[in-house]
This record gives sequence, structure tokens and C-alpha cells, in this order.
Amino acid sequence: MNQKENRISKTEKKLENVSKTVFKDWKYAPSPESTEHVKIAPRYDLFINGKFVKPESKKYFDTVSPSTEKKLSEIAEAGEKDVDKAVSAAKNAYDKTWRKIPAKERAKYIYRIARMIQERAREFAVIETMDGGKPIRESRDIDVPLAANHFFYYAGWADKLDYAFPKTNPRPLGVAGQIIPWNFPLLMAAWKIAPALATGNTVVLKPAESTPLTALKLAELIQDSGLPEGVVNIVTGFGKTGAAIVNHPNVNKVAFTGSTDVGKIIQKAVAGTSKKITLELGGKAANIVFDDAPIDQAVEGIVNGIFFNQGHVCCAGSRLFVQENIAANLIEKLKERMESLIVGDPLDKNTDIGAINSKEQLLKIQEYISIGINEGAEIHQSSCALPNKGFFCKPTLFLNTSQSHRIVTEEIFGPVLAVQTFRTIEEVIEKANNIPYGLSAGVWTDKGSKIFHLTSKMRAGVVWANTYNKFDPASPFGGYKESGFGREGGLHGLSAYLTI
Ligand code: NAP
Ligand code: MG
Repeated sequence: MNQKENRISKTEKKLENVSKTVFKDWKYAPSPESTEHVKIAPRYDLFINGKFVKPESKKYFDTVSPSTEKKLSEIAEAGEKDVDKAVSAAKNAYDKTWRKIPAKERAKYIYRIARMIQERAREFAVIETMDGGKPIRESRDIDVPLAANHFFYYAGWADKLDYAFPKTNPRPLGVAGQIIPWNFPLLMAAWKIAPALATGNTVVLKPAESTPLTALKLAELIQDSGLPEGVVNIVTGFGKTGAAIVNHPNVNKVAFTGSTDVGKIIQKAVAGTSKKITLELGGKAANIVFDDAPIDQAVEGIVNGIFFNQGHVCCAGSRLFVQENIAANLIEKLKERMESLIVGDPLDKNTDIGAINSKEQLLKIQEYISIGINEGAEIHQSSCALPNKGFFCKPTLFLNTSQSHRIVTEEIFGPVLAVQTFRTIEEVIEKANNIPYGLSAGVWTDKGSKIFHLTSKMRAGVVWANTYNKFDPASPFGGYKESGFGREGGLHGLSAYLTI
């Protein structure tokens, strides 16, 4: 560093310290999103054959808001008989209407659904946040717009399948049974329903038990859109309901997003049948920072990768690899940034980290934090206070971790980051790949050649370079190894719903 650079660096440090003292006790005024425009019915039935119908089981369960622990609504529990009705409705709609109408007409319905999601975006965003606990900024700016974009994107393909897959005579499969998790409830429903409809299939979808509301709101929207009866059916319930869909003989395709454990059960269940299957499962992504990376940007990417959305992201950057010579500096900056993260009411527009989706998930995360401490890793948490009610977790960092630690190899699905250091590119590739998962990864460096070297050797479905968690409907998404198989998004996502 020459004299001039030295002077600049000293001045920057001084300014930083001044702003730290001045803004120490500075807080944002609360900015809660209004819930007045939102209509949540006290009870929801099953959406079968274009109508809301009572469950044969006569059973209902509560869905609660994880940030207030208050009940939001009662939800029907679909048993085997209900699933059978839904599959029959889907089969009937497939045979009699959906496969027969011209593809360009199918496209019109899908476009209409996309536009209606945009029109009701605010309501969807608020309900997503109330039911699932994620910050309103995220549901408003990511989940809902991306869900609409998926419908727009696949609507465009509906009448161009012969061009997408030339000389293959692409044909639909029939009834698609689709099962989704709680971390992106509306977005996952869109990822599943849009390509299925565009390719001429009909659908029976089951949302997760803790986040059924936006899927049911989507059912209302689909009813308003005039989509022919039975083309989309939405049945709510627990794992048993999902299993009934998977095992139903008239289901021709199973699309599942969720944990690797349940994915394995489903794979066994369909083995030996003619059902087509795609599995989008867990992950434990490596976020890799080289010493030539723009450090502040990388810190922001790390925070975005693991702390926003409470780490409830299958592709969360939950393992951080930092090149040794910049580790101390980067960790200091990361700790500082963690202090400024706002944890609390997810409906507040200032909130960075909302509520953990359920009590069970919070207990699981807390157990992993104890495991990390017992394994001898050094813990650091932000000093923020947590709300008295609701399920919340402080952003957590584990330093001095190694490949033998469970917090490094197992999916936690919470705001917990395990940090390791490395010296060479070969070493970090080896470490990053040494894991049963292979869904995604991130790399931060100034050098394009390093990015290509690394991406060609990483066993991960998606690798982001100098950014993190970016999605586009045109880009396929999916995993290697225990992160599943099959791709969603793009042309790949269409082919999963076709015989070609
Ligand atoms: P999960 O427990 O596997 O549940 C996923 C869905 O499967 C839920 O709707 C669940 O119903 C249902 N289910 C449970 N047991 C079943 C069975 N035996 N047969 C059929 N369906 C069954 O996963 P989760 O805890 O909700 O979600 C978190 C997991 O999803 C994480 O591992 C995450 O990595 C993964 N994920 C992956 C991706 C990806 O694209 N790769 C995306 C998002 C999430 P209930 O909830 O009602 O029990
Ligand atoms: Mg809920």
C-alpha cells in the first residue's frame, strides 16, 4: 500500500467508526403491511372438480401463523377416498376436455392465471407471509412475481411443443400428482402446475400442512379463471394424503419437492410402476469466496444466501468456504452485517429475517445449534432480541468447523452458517463436493477463468457466480446425487411432463 492509499484507508476507517457511533441506537420506524384487504375464510374445503367440497373424512386441522402462533383458518384433511375423487376428476378432465382442446386455447387459460396472480399479488404476498412466516419483502418481491412469471413462461410454450421437441411427437402423460413443501408454497405450486397444464396434463396437488393457504387461494383464482372443471384439483392434508396421491393407480406422473427422506420413500413406492417421477430434494450448498472477490458484495451474497428467508431455502448457501488469507477480514465484516439484520414481525417491510415456519422446525434448528456447540465449533449469534411470541431464531455462525461435523454435512434448513477456510482451488472443490447433496453452489471471484474451472468441477445443479439465489423460469433447476433428479424450469421442465 502506498502513502496515498494508506491515507485513504485510514480516512475510510475513521468514517466507518463515526457512522457506527452516530447510528448505534438508530432504528427504523415500524412499517407493517396492512392485512385489511386480505380475506381468509374461517374454513377451507378440498378443491375437487372445480368446486370446494367437504372431506369424506370430515376432519379438519388448523393452520397457524408462525409469527403470532394464532390460528388463521381450518383446513380439510383429505383421506384416501378424497384423493380418489380428485384423481378421478383429473382423469375425467384429461380424457374429456384438456387433452382435446387446441394448445393455443390451453395457453389462454394459463396466461389468464398469470395475469390474475399479478392482479391479486398483494393479497397473495400477505397471506404467504402470514401463513408461512417469511418476510413480506420476500413474498412480495420474489415469491409472487416469480409464480406469475412461471405461468407466463409456460403459457408461451403450450402451442410450440412441436418446435421445442422437434420430430418427437410430444404427448402428455395424463394425471400428474404433485406434492410440495412449505418454504415457497405458492411458487412451488406454480413450478408444478404451469408446465403440467402447458403440456396438456391435469393435476392433483397437495400443499404442505403448515402452509396450505396460498394454494387454496390459487384454487379460488383458478375457479374464477374459468379453467375447465377437474383440470386442477387441490387436496390438503398431511404426509398420508401425499402418499395416497403417489400410490393411486391412475396417477401417471409424480412430481415431488421436499426432503430427501420422503423422496426416497416415494421413489420406492413408484418403483416397478409405469409412473414417471421427478424429485427435487434437499441441499447443503457451498458458497465459496476467493481472495480476489469483491468482499462487501460477497458478504451481502452470503447473508442473502443463508439468512434471508430464515435459511428455509433448499439451495441456501449453508456452507461458507473462505480463502484463508481473507478469512479474518471477511468474518469481521460478516459479523458486523449480522448485527444490522432485523429479525421479527414478517409483515413489517423492514424485516430481514421472519419467523421459522413451525415449532417443529424451530426445535430441529435449535437441536442442530446444540450439536454444533457439542462438536466443538465456535458459535457466534447476532445480539438482536427475539419477539416474545412466535417461532424465531437468531442468525447463527459456526466458525472452526470441519468436514466431520454434522452441522457441515446435514441439512438444517435454518439461519445457521458453517464456516471453513481453504488455500487452493483444488482443495475447495474437493471439500465442497464431499457431501451427499448437490443442488447448488456459489462462487465469488474477480477471475472468469476461476469461475469456469470451478463450475465445470462442482457437482451441483446450479452454480451462481458473484451473486446468489437468482431464479428465472427459463432456467432449469434441480440436483445431483441425494438432491434428486429431473429438472424444473425451462425446456427441461416441460420434458418431464411429456412422452417424447
Ligand atoms: P417433507 O417433509 O419431505 O414434505 C414435503 C411434502 O411431502 C409435504 O407436502 C409433506 O406433507 C409431503 N409428505 C410427507 N410425507 C409424505 C409421504 N410419505 N408421501 C408423500 N408425501 C409426503 O419436506 P418439508 O419439510 O416440507 O420441506 C423441506 C425440504 O424440502 C427440505 O429438505 C428442502 O431442501 C426441500 N426442498 C427442496 C427443493 C428443491 O427444489 N430441491 C425446494 C424446496 C424445498 P406434510 O407437510 O403435510 O407432512
Ligand atoms: Mg401456517
